[in-house]
Amino acid sequence: MLSSYRLERIPQEPGLQAWNAADELLLKRDIELCTGQILLLNDSFGALAVTLADKELCWWNDSAMAHDALKLNCATNQVRLPIVNHQFPEQAEIDTVIMHLPKSLNFFAWQLEQIQQCLTNTGSVLLLGMVKHISKGHIELMTRYFSNINPGRAEKKARVIQLTDPIPHSESKASHYAIESLNTDFTQLPGCFAENNADPGALVFIDYLKTRANFNAALDLGCGNGVLSVALTQASQTAAITLIDESQQALNSAKANLCHAKTTNRLRFIHSDGTNALGSDELFDLIVCNPPFHQGFSLTEKIAHKLFSDAHKHLTSQGEFWVVANRHLPYYSDLKKRFGRVALKSKHPKFNVYFCQL
Ligand code: SAM
Repeated sequence: MLSSYRLERIPQEPGLQAWNAADELLLKRDIELCTGQILLLNDSFGALAVTLADKELCWWNDSAMAHDALKLNCATNQVRLPIVNHQFPEQAEIDTVIMHLPKSLNFFAWQLEQIQQCLTNTGSVLLLGMVKHISKGHIELMTRYFSNINPGRAEKKARVIQLTDPIPHSESKASHYAIESLNTDFTQLPGCFAENNADPGALVFIDYLKTRANFNAALDLGCGNGVLSVALTQASQTAAITLIDESQQALNSAKANLCHAKTTNRLRFIHSDGTNALGSDELFDLIVCNPPFHQGFSLTEKIAHKLFSDAHKHLTSQGEFWVVANRHLPYYSDLKKRFGRVALKSKHPKFNVYFCQL
């Protein structure tokens, strides 16, 4: 059924589809459970929004790439866009929640709490996941938030689990830790990158960024909790800094952390897939990036390549692009293809720090 639509991933990834066996199972076996007002969560490429377009749908996703894929796939298949929510409904008006299982347990708990606020008394949650991704921790959370759990029969290594009869409960929380080298405390909202510990690559990278000077406009591409921008504010108190992340939870964490750091810098926070939301004439004399190599449960180099291409478009002629990456990731050749000068600056056993110029 899904294969009869034209559905694309963002970024495109040869060999990977814009849906999985759990979506197919829902549509084949459990479609009659999808009734009333439906809330679609974590539908990464809008595949369910397209196939269920004749139903009463609203849609929520933390990811800017997912928003772009939703628009693209609805337009290609000429179906109407669902109502796109930027916040969860505050009243109990949702009869069915269809959600893909998120990776982070704390984010899952947070989403179950939001669902409890908006689900009607007789409503149900249909939780979609691949068997290998449903951990003991996910199952324990389901049992703490719902009294009835029907795991259904697995097919093609996928499950649709039905949850009914919510138990009022709340255990998700923002995480907190200090980064000594920045003498700063950080807060992460559920689902933000480096939720429980600072990223070791970022910790190595900070030492290179703290010594940058004489820059006026910096871009933190994939800012996460804003750790690299905090380092930049310590390098220059006057530079303007633009922080971009495709995750709203990350961006909100970065806002909280930069606000807490009480900087004098001019700051902008943008929810976007790379620099898609920036004008082509916006240039920066310093761009920093600790690129992701995962998208949900999948490994990918495609996002890093897009961020490198975006950095190339928005760098001034004398500007500097700094990148940190795990040593095993083969980024040197891609950087070399795009930038005139690429130098490896670190001798760290686990992380490469690259310096690039046009
Ligand atoms: N800069 C932070 C640090 O050093 O700890 C976070 C780095 S983390 C490895 C990568 C970040 O990029 C994540 O916060 C992720 O949400 C974000 N990201 C992933 N894909 C993105 C995209 N296409 N555009 C913008 N940000 C993206």
